[in-house]
Amino acid sequence: MRRVIVQAYQSDHALEMVFSSLRWFFLILSVIVFLINYIDNPVELHLILFSALVVFGCIYMGLSDFCLYKAPESSKAYLIMTKGGPFFDFVSFFALIALTGGIYSPLTPIAYLIILHVSVYWRLVGAMTFSLLFMLGFTILFMVQGYFIMSFDYITYLTQLVFLLLVGLLGGIVVSRERYHFSEKNTFENLANKDHLTNLDNHRSFQEQLRVTKDKDTPFYLVFADIDGFKKINDQYGHVVGDIVLKKVAKVLRINIPEDIGSVFRYGGEEFAILIYTDEQRYVEELLANLKEKISEEVHYCNEGKFTVTMSFGCKRNSNEEEPIKLIDEADKLLYQAKRQGKNRVVYELLDLIKS
Ligand code: GH3
Ligand code: MG
Ligand code: MG
Repeated sequence: MRRVIVQAYQSDHALEMVFSSLRWFFLILSVIVFLINYIDNPVELHLILFSALVVFGCIYMGLSDFCLYKAPESSKAYLIMTKGGPFFDFVSFFALIALTGGIYSPLTPIAYLIILHVSVYWRLVGAMTFSLLFMLGFTILFMVQGYFIMSFDYITYLTQLVFLLLVGLLGGIVVSRERYHFSEKNTFENLANKDHLTNLDNHRSFQEQLRVTKDKDTPFYLVFADIDGFKKINDQYGHVVGDIVLKKVAKVLRINIPEDIGSVFRYGGEEFAILIYTDEQRYVEELLANLKEKISEEVHYCNEGKFTVTMSFGCKRNSNEEEPIKLIDEADKLLYQAKRQGKNRVVYELLDLIKS
């Protein structure tokens, strides 16, 4: 439960999953509430309408869940289904409470949740707009139900309106404020942990991740990768081209290392650190051979024409006894050896010559 709350706090996707689960929960609750009402007041038309509503709801919610779990978060289908959710909820809400007791329906507090959901996407303006729409809907329902005469019904109706207004106003303010701080926090975290040029995690993140990974006691490899003859590229084509090369190399590294198996960092200058979380040397060898190939195939452009670059790699398997600093030192030595052996290669073993 705590994990769900933490995740929902950290990502809109997880929050959508919570709202989606709530919809299923309320569907079941609505069936129970409707059936209890139906036993007291068995109107066949209500049963037909309610059944149609449940079928429609199941189709919509099934589709929405499919997009939520299967579609990429940036896809149109995902956006339509998540942002469209509150509109579906709004319409179904009124159909539902009209069939389960109108303004006296025990399901009326669902309106507050819908307003909060709206405020996640459209902040205070969205929350207030939906509050007013709910107030209008309640008013229409109140009139259709014909509660003009009895004063107690007026009190219920007016109380509902006040609460809707308050939830829209306060909910909207609280959610907007929280989201403002949340996006500020993300911005600062990004500034502290990302390299601004390549958008890779930076040196500081690398040190932190290395420490965390070492503490876990699970096998991994540390790779140091360095662009060959990069100074010449800067000298020959200028630093602007040099920067573009760094960005493209970073992209090739990121694309070719699956996120679940490795992390890529800009260690500094034209040097990158890679952590590969596996025990299998053969897998690492294949991954790095492929990476070296992909780097050297990438074509870079400048005013003078086009060119390619190569990279050298030093790869060291972690051993639990070593301090992080020692592991870094060893991977660095292997990289140095790759340079001395002629560059554009991966070195796993230190020659005695360099050890000494
Ligand atoms: P080697 O093959 O031995 O690695 O030689 P190298 O020329 O790649 O290495 P060296 O350490 O001599 O030069 C690295 C150069 O990288 C020097 C530095 O100016 C440049 N550099 C470091 N950071 C940046 C950057 O952010 N942008 C650009 N354009 N150049 C950078
Ligand atoms: Mg270099
Ligand atoms: Mg270097």
